[in-house]
Amino acid sequence: MAMFDSLKDTLNKGVAAVSVKSETLVESSRVKSAISNAQKKLEAEKAALGVKLYQSWKDGTASMELFADDFARMQGIEDEITGLNARLAQIKAEEDKILGSAQRPAAPAAQAAAPAAGTVFCTNCGKALPAGSRFCDECGTPVA
Ligand SMILES: [Zn+2]
Repeated sequence: MAMFDSLKDTLNKGVAAVSVKSETLVESSRVKSAISNAQKKLEAEKAALGVKLYQSWKDGTASMELFADDFARMQGIEDEITGLNARLAQIKAEEDKILGSAQRPAAPAAQAAAPAAGTVFCTNCGKALPAGSRFCDECGTPVA
């Protein structure tokens, strides 16, 4: 009975992870598309600002006050993008926390430590040799 419960628990965790994965996927693609929309809006604002600046320079009416609303609006869009990027990072962090680090590659430190496990010792002089050596590079004795 306990074994069955543990199996059921494992299955439920798997289902939960899949559901978390698809939920965060939907949420992150929604945020990404909002970021892309805001960036397009900002580009359009910049283009319109350029036209307005040039026109006002020709008219002789150019002033910082003339553009105050435009600047404020653009800053608002930039803040929106900053907030959306923060949300995206938060979604990624939540996903990592729930799914764990199993999907990520091993840390470089663990990979660097691995070759040390394959050390062999010369039966004649005792020198440490890399696994796979055919002869001792100290005394020339064949390595078994
Ligand atoms: Zn040796």
